Amino acid sequence: MELCDKTIHELNGMLSKKEILPSEIMNSVLSRMEKTGGFRSFIKVFPEQALELAVRQDSAPVKGALAGIPVAVKDNMCIENKETTCASHVLKSFIAPYTATAVLKLLGAGAIVIGKTNMDEFAMGSSTETSFFGKTLNPWNKDMVPGGSSGGSATSVALGEAIGSLGSDTGGSIRQPASLCGLVGLKPTYGRVSRYGLVAFASSLDQIGPFAKDVEDAAILLKAISGYDVKDSTSVNREAPDYVTEMKKEIKGLKIGVPEEYFSDGIDEEVGSCVKKAVKDLERCGAEVKNISLPHTEYAVATYYIIATAEASSNLARYDGVHYGLRENAGNIIDLYKKTRSVGFGDEVKRRIILGTYVLSSGYYDAYYLKAQKARTLIKEDFSKAFDDVDVIITPTSPTTAWRIGEKTSDPLKMYLSDIYTISANLAGIPSVSVNCGFSGGLPVGLQLQAAHFNETVLLRAAYSFEQMNDYHKKRAFSGK
Ligand code: GLN
Repeated sequence: MELCDKTIHELNGMLSKKEILPSEIMNSVLSRMEKTGGFRSFIKVFPEQALELAVRQDSAPVKGALAGIPVAVKDNMCIENKETTCASHVLKSFIAPYTATAVLKLLGAGAIVIGKTNMDEFAMGSSTETSFFGKTLNPWNKDMVPGGSSGGSATSVALGEAIGSLGSDTGGSIRQPASLCGLVGLKPTYGRVSRYGLVAFASSLDQIGPFAKDVEDAAILLKAISGYDVKDSTSVNREAPDYVTEMKKEIKGLKIGVPEEYFSDGIDEEVGSCVKKAVKDLERCGAEVKNISLPHTEYAVATYYIIATAEASSNLARYDGVHYGLRENAGNIIDLYKKTRSVGFGDEVKRRIILGTYVLSSGYYDAYYLKAQKARTLIKEDFSKAFDDVDVIITPTSPTTAWRIGEKTSDPLKMYLSDIYTISANLAGIPSVSVNCGFSGGLPVGLQLQAAHFNETVLLRAAYSFEQMNDYHKKRAFSGK
């Protein structure tokens, strides 16, 4: 197995025994990139800089949980003096003046950023097909989508082009691509990780989180990026536990809830049976399984697409041709705004801005936006009640495995419905993780676990126990072809 196919914890062990050097890991990742070609995981790679930093660590080893580890960062997180595009033409030539806190924390732990990954434009999408820079392809099958919006962050790790990565999750954008690419993807509790330097899509839902090859790596990355930040008033001042130690504790007596609403029509049969088998595995580890109900689940997609678009329409008002990136010439300021926004945004982003502006407009505010906020409260209460009885809720991450490129692009509603199982966690603000629980037709299937606010520990513990019973996480997408 090449170094780029190993996990962070394996590489940490080898580095500390001095069996390998950081530059060897970096060279392995860089040479993998030459072989993979065409998946478009990255918008920008920094090979020289990354190698130089790795070589520097060879002779002057740094301390930290991620020392010498090449990581990739979704291109909606700022890195000082580097372009941040959000995969949009509207941010053309925008150079970030500072680095996002989550990225600074990775660097502080010794990680080396290898590049910025491809994504749906402004993180709006479920397939990484709306990127201005071209579609990312699924690492297991090039005819399929990798999921989205953090498709590049997922594909890069699955192919060994990075050892771990960061994505952002507003309605599933970490967990769903993790599911479709056979990785672990974790959305932390809202407030666990600072959003400072993350370009805002829907501020009450956005959260940064890791992609990893296994649960232990996800725990290491989560620990590295967690914590209070004075620069993000929504980050919470609460110590992050030592996830790696905590997750290895046994799950005997852990109560697991299986909500009936997540196994309804539209779910692929094999996906359903992989998830049910996973529930049995957890039962064999000593967990107690209960059927539960989250009765307002059916309103989640509608609620999300009102709140997320409303917030997006406000957040995206700043791209006006004056403040950032692209500026189209025009005779007066209004035409400058119009031209810049018409040329700069893609269709899906425009659709969201129009939808969001509509639901916030005076005549429709009560009927849509206000009502959606009330529905959001009900969805949140469903979870609070459920967590009185169970510790973890288990569902599929996505109703299907990866679909064909182009299959859903002409039907936005079909695309939105693919987020049906992931969106509620964002509305409720709870932590949630996706782990690989099998394959169907050669494509990975994801198991989603959800826990109460700030209970990432129990989430990781259940995910880790499940992983120990299977070897799905040991399979690698890159076959050498
Ligand atoms: N697919 C969802 C959307 O399009 C979620 C995106 C995300 O989490 N960034 O809004």
